[in-house]
Amino acid sequence: MSKTIISVSNLVKNYGQFQAVKGISFEVYEGEIFGLLGPNGAGKSTTLEIIETLREKTSGEVIVDGINLDKNPNEIKKIIGVQLQSSGYYPGLNLLQLIQLFCGLYNRDVAPMELLEMVNLKDKAKSQFKQLSGGQKQRFSVATTLINEPRIIFLDEPTTGLDPQARRSLWELVKNIRSRGTTVIITTHYMDEAEYLCDRVAIIDSGNIVALDTPDQMIDKLVATGFERPKEVKKANLEDVFIKLTGHSLREE
Ligand code: ADP
Ligand code: MG
Repeated sequence: MSKTIISVSNLVKNYGQFQAVKGISFEVYEGEIFGLLGPNGAGKSTTLEIIETLREKTSGEVIVDGINLDKNPNEIKKIIGVQLQSSGYYPGLNLLQLIQLFCGLYNRDVAPMELLEMVNLKDKAKSQFKQLSGGQKQRFSVATTLINEPRIIFLDEPTTGLDPQARRSLWELVKNIRSRGTTVIITTHYMDEAEYLCDRVAIIDSGNIVALDTPDQMIDKLVATGFERPKEVKKANLEDVFIKLTGHSLREE
């Protein structure tokens, strides 16, 4: 049986009169990649930020690794890794210095070059964050979530705006992180990404969870209703062409 590491019950978030999250409940299992899928404005970031202790909830209960959010938010902070927005990085420092700074803040002793190697940025150790390409920036921000050796990391739309090569590179990084035992919660509105990466997904729409299952089960359930896709006449799509012509290797160096 899978062990629950995050439990969210009847979570509600009101912004004034507007209810952005309408009493949702779900569990995330230890060691899985869990996807929160939904269109813009569905309430994904709000939900994530509440669990991350960065935003106040209106009501409901959140338990992370046995820790109640209402009682011990600081204990939750210690075991999670959160992607910071780029504006949070000191502009004058290079990647190596930034990681050393984070290590100091978290009082951790990770080897900065090993971390940069893991996210394929060893060559950029002496570059500043602003000099990186979009994909490199995202990989660096994922690296910073790992500095406190968290049990769970939260990634909010990490591949939005990336080219196909950079997207695939980030997917492999996420799989790699999970293979080391870290639980990953990721939001996305790319269904191919969710299908490739996620063990289970919750589809959230206008503040409600409308489905929660493995991608395969969701597809099987839809097919069981008699749904059939218009027959695919082509055995490849334009993205296949693009990747075939331009290769899988990253183009940002
Ligand atoms: P998602 O991440 O799925 O795109 P969000 O959680 O960011 O959705 O937002 C959900 C809804 O709440 C949206 O309608 C958004 O406009 C609204 N919202 C988000 N943050 C605030 C805020 N600070 N004040 C008022 N409304 C907000
Ligand atoms: Mg969002």
